[in-house]
Amino acid sequence: QKLKALLVMGNWKMNGSLAANAKLLADLRTGLAEGVAEASAHFAVCVPAPYLAQVAEALKATEITWGAQDVSARDAGAYTGEVSAAMLKDFACTWVLVGHSERRSMHAEGDELVAEKAKAALIRGVTPVVCVGESLAERDAGQVHEVIAKQLAPVIALGAESLRQMVVAYEPVWAIGTGRTATPEQAQEVHAGIRQALSAAGAPDVKVLYGGSVKSSNAASLFAMPDIDGALVGGASLMADEFLRIGA
Ligand code: PEP
Repeated sequence: QKLKALLVMGNWKMNGSLAANAKLLADLRTGLAEGVAEASAHFAVCVPAPYLAQVAEALKATEITWGAQDVSARDAGAYTGEVSAAMLKDFACTWVLVGHSERRSMHAEGDELVAEKAKAALIRGVTPVVCVGESLAERDAGQVHEVIAKQLAPVIALGAESLRQMVVAYEPVWAIGTGRTATPEQAQEVHAGIRQALSAAGAPDVKVLYGGSVKSSNAASLFAMPDIDGALVGGASLMADEFLRIGA
C-alpha cells in the first residue's frame, strides 16, 4: 500500500495538432469520467508550448493537470525562441519537464543548466520534473549510480526547501521509446538510490517517477515497487485509453 497517490504524467513530445489534440483531450475527459483509471491516480500531460492554451481550456474543469516540456533558465529578455516560466504560469501550468534526455542529448543541456531551469520554474510556482537517467554504455560500464548522482548534484545543491517542491523522474535512456522497459527490480534499485540521496538532502517525500516504455501492461509491476511513485509516459500518453489504464 503506497502512502502517496500515483502520479501518471504524459510527455507528448513533439506530437499533435489542434485537431488531434482535441480528440485526445476529449477522450481523456470521457475516459476519466467513465472511471477507466483508479480514482486515486493523478494524471498530467506535458505538451508542446504552442498548445498550452488549447490544453488549459480543455482540461480546466477536470482533475487532469498540464505542463510544458522545457523552460528557459532566464526570466525575460533577448533569448530568441525561449519560453519563460512566467509564460508557463500564464497558461496555468502545474509542471514543466527539465533535463529530459532528449534535451540533454540533442540540445547539449548540462546538469548545471538543468538545475537553473528547475530553479527558474520554482520561482514562478511551476513544479519542475527533473529527469535523470543513464545511457546503455554507462549502465554496461557499471556507472549508473555515479551518473545519476552527478546529474542530481546541482539540483540537490538548490537546497531542501526547493527540492521538496520538485518531482524527479528516473528515465534510463536505453528504455525511452525503445519498447525495452527496465525491470521493476532494476528501476527500484535506482529509485532507492535516488530516494536515499533526496532523504540525505532533507527531501524524503519527493515523488520519484519512472519513465521508459511504460504502458498499461507493465505499469502495475513497476508501481508495486516501494520507491516508484508514478510514471512519466511518452508514446503511450498519445492514446487516451492506454494512458489512463496505466493508472488503473
Ligand atoms: C519519455 O520520453 O519521457 C518516455 C518515457 O518515453 P516512452 O514512454 O515513449 O519510452
